[in-house]
Amino acid sequence: MFKSGFVAIIGKPNVGKSTILNFLLGYDLAIISRKPETTRNNILGTLTTKEGQINFLDTPGIHTPHTLLGKYMVRQAQSALMEVDLILAVTDMKFEIDKDDKRMFELLQKEKKSMILLINKIDRVDKRLILPLIDECKSMDYFKEYIPISAKNGDNMDVLIPKMLQYLPEGPKHYPDDHLTDKPVRFLVGEFIRQQVLSLTHEEIPHSVAVCVEEIKKRPKKKLHYVQATIFVERDSQKAIIIGKNGQLLKEIGEAARKNIEEELQTKVYLDLWVKVYKNWRKDPRALNMLGYT
Ligand code: GDP
Ligand code: MG
Repeated sequence: MFKSGFVAIIGKPNVGKSTILNFLLGYDLAIISRKPETTRNNILGTLTTKEGQINFLDTPGIHTPHTLLGKYMVRQAQSALMEVDLILAVTDMKFEIDKDDKRMFELLQKEKKSMILLINKIDRVDKRLILPLIDECKSMDYFKEYIPISAKNGDNMDVLIPKMLQYLPEGPKHYPDDHLTDKPVRFLVGEFIRQQVLSLTHEEIPHSVAVCVEEIKKRPKKKLHYVQATIFVERDSQKAIIIGKNGQLLKEIGEAARKNIEEELQTKVYLDLWVKVYKNWRKDPRALNMLGYT
């Protein structure tokens, strides 16, 4: 019997949703960052095994939105939930289950979807604290399964796929075996660049950054791909930070991103990277549209 369906990964920012997805797929599809609210779109990753096919949605965290972009992210998360067969709710050991979590679980239960609770980052705490937390979660009675894991070092991760398949309906493959994601190459390339900006800058930058991939062109004579992309920020001061002294930081960002893109495209790449200021783009519907957040 072949199982097939859609699984949403939901939870507060920073609990490890993208790390879990990447671990299960064995592939860095979702960008991971110490900074919250890194994930902006629903990412569909597909895992095909002999027993079944699981299509994952990695949702932006559910939180109270302050900007138009924030509202878009929360809407994306909610709409993802209506379409799935199973929900993986993620929490972590660092925080207790709080009011926000409980409100979210109640909301989900109304959808009458099967839910599995993943308690992530167990590598961070004394093992003796794990059982009491699971008991506390069980008293809520929202979930079919309660699974403590560490997405970072792989603890207990091997039980996840079989457990998920158990709750998915019988069905056909929605995608061919080698299908990894429905995101276009353009999107992945933009995310590789954004990931490098995030990992090479600090505090004030992350939320203000967006990447627009303007062009990906094959240059057969030179045996490479020409990629042109623009990093948008909201202020002149941020532009200066990203460019760095003598353009040094932008060069580093470009080199690191280029390596990732070359791996993805399986070819040499010339990356032409620009930085531009777009004042308050996060509050500007036209900018959001241009950047694909619609
Ligand atoms: P998301 O916002 O829920 O998608 O969270 P991410 O996957 O981006 O992870 C947020 C941070 O938590 C990153 O710094 C991860 O490396 C870290 N992280 C994720 N899983 C674990 C884990 O099992 N243990 C520890 N110690 N850190 C983790
Ligand atoms: Mg994420």
